[in-house]
Amino acid sequence: MQDRFTRVKVREQDPKVRAHNFEEVCLGYDKEEAMLEASRCLHCKKPMCVSACPVNIQIPDFIEQVKNGDFAAAAEVIARDSSLPAICGRVCPQETQCEGKCILGNKGEAVAIGKLERFVADWSRENGVKFNECKPANGKKVAIVGSGPSGLACATDLAKAGFKVHVFEVLHKVGGVLQYGIPEFRLPKDRVVSREVEALKDLGVEFETDVIVGRTVTVDDLMEKEGYDAVFIGTGAGLPRFMNIPGENLNGVVSANEFLTRNNLMHAYEEGYETPIYAGSKCVVVGGGNVAMDAARTALRLGAEVTIVYRRTETELPARREEVHHAKEEGIVFSMLSNPVEVLGDEKGWVRGVRCIRMELGEPDASGRRSPIPVPGSEFDIECDVVIMALGTSPNPLIAATTPGLETNRHGCVVLNEQDQTSRKYVYAGGDAVTGAATVILAMGAGRKAAAAIMRDLLPEE
Ligand SMILES: Cc1cc2nc3c(=O)[nH]c(=O)nc-3n(C[C@H](O)[C@H](O)[C@H](O)COP(=O)(O)OP(=O)(O)OC[C@H]3O[C@@H](n4cnc5c(N)ncnc54)[C@H](O)[C@@H]3O)c2cc1C
Ligand code: SF4
Repeated sequence: MQDRFTRVKVREQDPKVRAHNFEEVCLGYDKEEAMLEASRCLHCKKPMCVSACPVNIQIPDFIEQVKNGDFAAAAEVIARDSSLPAICGRVCPQETQCEGKCILGNKGEAVAIGKLERFVADWSRENGVKFNECKPANGKKVAIVGSGPSGLACATDLAKAGFKVHVFEVLHKVGGVLQYGIPEFRLPKDRVVSREVEALKDLGVEFETDVIVGRTVTVDDLMEKEGYDAVFIGTGAGLPRFMNIPGENLNGVVSANEFLTRNNLMHAYEEGYETPIYAGSKCVVVGGGNVAMDAARTALRLGAEVTIVYRRTETELPARREEVHHAKEEGIVFSMLSNPVEVLGDEKGWVRGVRCIRMELGEPDASGRRSPIPVPGSEFDIECDVVIMALGTSPNPLIAATTPGLETNRHGCVVLNEQDQTSRKYVYAGGDAVTGAATVILAMGAGRKAAAAIMRDLLPEE
């Protein structure tokens, strides 16, 4: 019998070993471990975990089925609300969502809801459990622009409701950030991401890669010339921000997006691929979100000594707690309360270091976090040959620029009304393209809301 307040420990690769490979860090629960962990759940009458889940998965119900060893029934409960459980079980920030509100967390450790979700999803995939019942075709056809979690979730719900769904993706692989951003050691591509995409193909969803909507074809072309009844824009927020400090154009300064895309999508780390990538011998990563942790841990695996420079303290770090913990275990150094003011170069135009200034925390800013203030005269240098900027991203302006009448806000995000419609009739949007950079589960939830709006508008009689 497991102690009610202590989690069943999940197996992970040894930090010293994994720091040199791209295999998945977390090995997940086996059947016995999952059932034991599930037995800790109190099946609360008013489960706070469910209301804290952005898509309201019926958590105690699926955990009950895990406890009973009926994993297919557990998968069926999850599938009612989530179309990407193997992904969300791996990358959702559970500590601030479901697990953050689990009653057991008041006295001990919250139930490992994410690890149980991942177990159920992996078990279902390995055992061929599928939930792909579709309604008969309803004659309506929808174009999805972008194949990230928002597009995939929207496509799933529409295909199940009998729509003909066609996904257009600019890259040569489907999955959005799941494919090009989040590294293999957190989210295996062939074993997990591609399999979730295959499940959508089983539902009849068609995918077309290497299509730049806004260049190859416009949103208006899709509706007027190609006969789509509606278009969903799930193009994410892939445009990297920089600091605009001196030296940022030196050789060796790169955005985290480019660095991770070369490594993940273009397999720079794998033998047999010739994608160039340079992590240097000493690498500084600027930022404190998941993107910064992923870039830092990737650079480490490529052989660099890595320092993360972040302008607030560990309390304010926006990255998932588990990723920060793993990064530290692997030997990444954190330089907190520091901010770069200049990238230093050598006579050949290559990076040789970063000049930083110490910060202290003042009053909370608009984000609710205490704002960092520079300490005058506290500059110091960190020697490095590569600097990776992981400072956040904005939506790419291409779709807005080529879709007349599509309203965006001052951050370039598509604006929705209370009915989840854009300013253009039969054009819908969701995910990072609407909110700015956020999370997988929020993007998935937004894709599902858009699907509901499309069904309501195109099939008002149902
Ligand atoms: C490195 C990294 C790590 C992250 N880690 C986490 C994490 O641990 N947990 C978490 O919850 N969230 C994480 N996130 C955030 C999360 O991945 C995103 O919030 C989520 O993927 C957004 O989904 P989306 O569908 O809106 O867009 P995206 O996933 O960005 O997908 C958009 C897709 O649209 C395509 N596209 C763009 N423009 C066009 C066009 N004009 N024509 C055709 N296709 C186009 C893009 O190529 C892309 O494939 C991370 C993000 C990054 C970058
Ligand atoms: S709050 Fe925790 S103990 Fe209660 S139902 Fe949810 S997971 Fe179980």
